[in-house]
Amino acid sequence: MTKLAELSVLGIYAPLHFFEYYHDDGYVDSIEDHFFMLVEKYGQEHQVSRDKIRKTLGGYLHYEGMFFSHHHIYYKRANEPDIFFIRGHEETHFLERIWKLNLLEDKLKPFTNRTIDFGEVIDSESRCNIGGVYALIKNNVPVKKVFEIIKSRSQQNLLKNYLEKYGLI
Ligand SMILES: [Zn+2]
Repeated sequence: MTKLAELSVLGIYAPLHFFEYYHDDGYVDSIEDHFFMLVEKYGQEHQVSRDKIRKTLGGYLHYEGMFFSHHHIYYKRANEPDIFFIRGHEETHFLERIWKLNLLEDKLKPFTNRTIDFGEVIDSESRCNIGGVYALIKNNVPVKKVFEIIKSRSQQNLLKNYLEKYGLI
């Protein structure tokens, strides 16, 4: 039987290798504390500054060990609809890492006027923002709400181009 990771916000079951584990760690009080707890647990090297992490709303961390591989997502408590977007974004980081963005492409098909090819979406954050947008759509939240959730102007502009290209706005 294939081992599956349940991505509860995207509504996707993704296949895992027998040595691979997916952990949805849920809400955490502090993104930075959770991040540093995980890197310490796995003995990972990192060059991430505390200041940079402090500003993020969620995280995805992958540990590739000799025998096991672990994927973690975690996020700050937030209200709806923001939390749909944040969780959808982090779940998409996981899909991206296991090369299964095609599962999200299939989910988006009914909502776009041309099929999304994630190979055309250059940067990782935009790919994951599109995943977050799908989580909004799935929860009947107007897509335009995303521009109130994403604060970075450059991220907003990048995403807007893709959403227009695929007819999502
Ligand atoms: Zn991200």
